Amino acid sequence: MNETARAAIVTGVAGDVEIRSYDLPRPGPGEFVLEVELCGMCGTDAHIYRGRLDSVRFPALLGHEIVGRLTVLGEGVRADHAGRPIEVGDRVGVFPALSCGRCYQCTVRGRPGSCPERRPSYGFASPADRPPYLTGGFATHLYASNAGTVFYRTDLDPAVAVLQEPLSVALHGLERSRVRIGSTVVVQGVGAIGLMAVVAARAAGAARIVAVGRPPVRLELAAALGADEVVDIDRVTDPARRAHAVRDALGESRGADAVIGTAGSPAAFTEAIGLVADGGTLAELGNFTDRGTVPFNPFSDLLKRDITIAGVYGAGPDMQRRYHSALTLLQRGGLPFDQVVSHRVPLSGARRALEALGGDYRLDDREIVKLAIDPRA
Ligand SMILES: [Zn+2]
Ligand SMILES: [Zn+2]
Repeated sequence: MNETARAAIVTGVAGDVEIRSYDLPRPGPGEFVLEVELCGMCGTDAHIYRGRLDSVRFPALLGHEIVGRLTVLGEGVRADHAGRPIEVGDRVGVFPALSCGRCYQCTVRGRPGSCPERRPSYGFASPADRPPYLTGGFATHLYASNAGTVFYRTDLDPAVAVLQEPLSVALHGLERSRVRIGSTVVVQGVGAIGLMAVVAARAAGAARIVAVGRPPVRLELAAALGADEVVDIDRVTDPARRAHAVRDALGESRGADAVIGTAGSPAAFTEAIGLVADGGTLAELGNFTDRGTVPFNPFSDLLKRDITIAGVYGAGPDMQRRYHSALTLLQRGGLPFDQVVSHRVPLSGARRALEALGGDYRLDDREIVKLAIDPRA
């Protein structure tokens, strides 16, 4: 084991990313140290990099989709959260947040995300220039400094295990969309969350799934992961024609029972409402940051059509159950999950990767499906 660790530190808003070295921490009771094998990078990281998350101050160490091998266990760390024994060398996926489990928000409201005793989440802890160091995944090691951190042992390939977090977001969308056995579903947007929404809808028993998005490489993967039909928005650019194309692909002129919106623009939200059948549901995940407003008629867009619109923020304040479900779904296998991570980037490429995610979604002349930082590369 190396005696020093390295981390990619974002020095300021859209600023330089420096590789800094640290001594390996000695974990106290309930804590542990992990050698990071792979850490997914997502839109949230790109938003933080651009200074769009007030709670994160710079310098910052990002990376919350963390998979690695246990290297040092603090006193009392003997099992994962499911009670399975663990030892040094085991691969685990780490749940980045930790709340108290006792307070009003945790127990009565079922919203541990609002727990007043909540610890700083891994990948969001800042500023990163004071202890505890190494509390984000874009580093060779993670110091799990929150005693009692939730983690699960897994034998999945790291490139599949890092999908646990985006899949848990998609599962939140799925629950709120009320997809059930036999539902017709439109998944709008085929980034990592959209692709995982296809997986979730298929697992939930959807009868027909149409994925709408771009470019062909991600649409092909959507089909491989369970979409029955895809509609390429670069080929059908007019929204009215697109609505027809989607209904044709659904085989249902009335629209979809459920639309899961992951595209992330106000215009896409308007389009998504139009794709819902009367009486159906739109679960909107895409407009995760403020991108502006849209005209909306409460009568004709909502009441008259008896539709439900659910705002779905990330994996939700009660995300822990979904995190576990996501892992079991990935472990069940049978789908080309290993094709979702399209780029493995070394620590030194973190800035390039963050800019690509917030930019044209291409890196090394290839379309990004999902980026991950490989600190050992
Ligand atoms: Zn994420
Ligand atoms: Zn609490």
